[in-house]
Amino acid sequence: MKSTMMNYQLTIPAILQRAKEIHPEKQIVTKMNDESIHRYSYGEFYTRVRRLMDALQKAGIKPGDRVATFGMNHYRHLEVYFAAPSMGAVLHTLNVRLFPEQLVYIVNDAEDSIIFVDKSLSKTLSDLLSQFKKKPKFVIMDDLEAMEAAPLADAIDYEEFLKNGNDSSLPLPEVDENKASGMCYTSGTTGNPKGVVYSHRSVYLHSMSICMSDSLGVCEKETVLPVVPMFHANAWGIPFACVMTGATLVFPGKHLLGHALASLLEQEKVSIAAGVPTIWNVLYQHLKKNSYDLSKLHTMIVGGSAAPLSMIEGFKKDFGIQILHAWGMTELSPVGTVCRLRTTMKDWNESEKMHFLAKQGPAVAGVELRGIDDQGRDIPKDGKTPGELIVRGPWVTVEYYGNPSQESFTEDGWFKTGDVVTIDEHSYIQITDRKKDLIKTRGEWISSVEMESQVLKASGVLEAAVVAKPDEIRGEVPVVFVVPKEGESIDKKSVLGVLKENFANWQLPNLEDIQVIDVIPKTSVGKFDKKVLRTRF
Ligand code: AMP
Repeated sequence: MKSTMMNYQLTIPAILQRAKEIHPEKQIVTKMNDESIHRYSYGEFYTRVRRLMDALQKAGIKPGDRVATFGMNHYRHLEVYFAAPSMGAVLHTLNVRLFPEQLVYIVNDAEDSIIFVDKSLSKTLSDLLSQFKKKPKFVIMDDLEAMEAAPLADAIDYEEFLKNGNDSSLPLPEVDENKASGMCYTSGTTGNPKGVVYSHRSVYLHSMSICMSDSLGVCEKETVLPVVPMFHANAWGIPFACVMTGATLVFPGKHLLGHALASLLEQEKVSIAAGVPTIWNVLYQHLKKNSYDLSKLHTMIVGGSAAPLSMIEGFKKDFGIQILHAWGMTELSPVGTVCRLRTTMKDWNESEKMHFLAKQGPAVAGVELRGIDDQGRDIPKDGKTPGELIVRGPWVTVEYYGNPSQESFTEDGWFKTGDVVTIDEHSYIQITDRKKDLIKTRGEWISSVEMESQVLKASGVLEAAVVAKPDEIRGEVPVVFVVPKEGESIDKKSVLGVLKENFANWQLPNLEDIQVIDVIPKTSVGKFDKKVLRTRF
């Protein structure tokens, strides 16, 4: 029997239109390069997006063309986020931390027609100009007043570009919900980066999902600060969800550390902030030594890498702030799981609760997940047996852009994440490793993530990364890299002592394999670059 429901198209222009109709007075705030605060309303945002859509059209951008961005989190970047897909073009966020050869590959693979770039980052692109096959146009997103000559020849200033476009009172164009609205490339540590193409429908559904209070809980009453960059995995979809709901949106610009970030959280009375563990680790150290009124900040969303238990406990105990642990991937738009405790867990003791909050949580509504072993059989939900996480859902990719290989998918179409998990009886997952980062000692697996979280308990340790080293007798042994906190030192024996409490003797690293270093090399998206670490022995 056919349903009687309308085939209403779930599109980004529909999100934009809602902002204009329902909450035009709500605010979008940006900390600018010179630390001044720029503020305007969603109503003004809408008008500028309409002008930008027209300006893009006049610059020759047609539906389906790729409109790239290369910038930090600020209101102009948000305008491009909405203008490009609302006129049928495809928003392509380029990761500003990519290595030059990857950047060239991605710009050429996506065939970007125009690139909106922050002036401070434009030198990176100008150095690569001769290698871009389809000569893109450039628009510089910083303020005109703040501009010295940009190193990109023929680049136009954003506000000048906007002047070419007219505002329009006509309805927004109708777009097919299944058409491409945006694309991102994965930061794969091996081989070329792979493109993922989102649709209007997938973005719309993902936005609704992360607005659920059991998920990230983005809603009108919240003031949301995404530290997670707009150039990586759509800033976890937060910009779209905020425009959909009218949440006050606060952008940190390039001010991501210490005092600048803490004072923005305080001044703008931010209630939800989102970022990777390394950002919150630095903030935590800063807050321990300096005093701010963060009484409005109730939730810090952490994802991208595992949130250590010590961090979750520290923020709760010292500042009363809840860490909300989420897992996702570029291939999932990106949110797949969010860890909140259920009402049925309310009588658990504190330590049990904390232990659970350090897991990545159950699948959000809309995503299905399973764990499978090497033979493709489902692993038991016992919280112990590891298996590869596979997922499916309306905002999970079914293929990579221009890449017919199906090796990342099961025969029945589930996406193989490459993450190793356990799943417990409550359906909460815990990521124990990336498949390729597990350490096999005497035929048994050691989770590098588990060892890292234990090492963090040792005195003076700021960051820890564990990788496998080949060993004639044990097969592989763990090598532990540790970075000391500012002004502190690390005693290797005390690191070993902490590990002895949680690991069997045969799992322990040798004392000489505990290495104190100044900094752990990071990938373009701020994760520990274990490939580089492995080259150090
Ligand atoms: P990306 O596509 O660059 O965002 O990277 C996705 C990968 O980051 C996942 O496959 C995981 O390996 C890792 N990841 C994301 N969130 C978490 C988390 N909460 N805990 C552990 N690993 C995570």
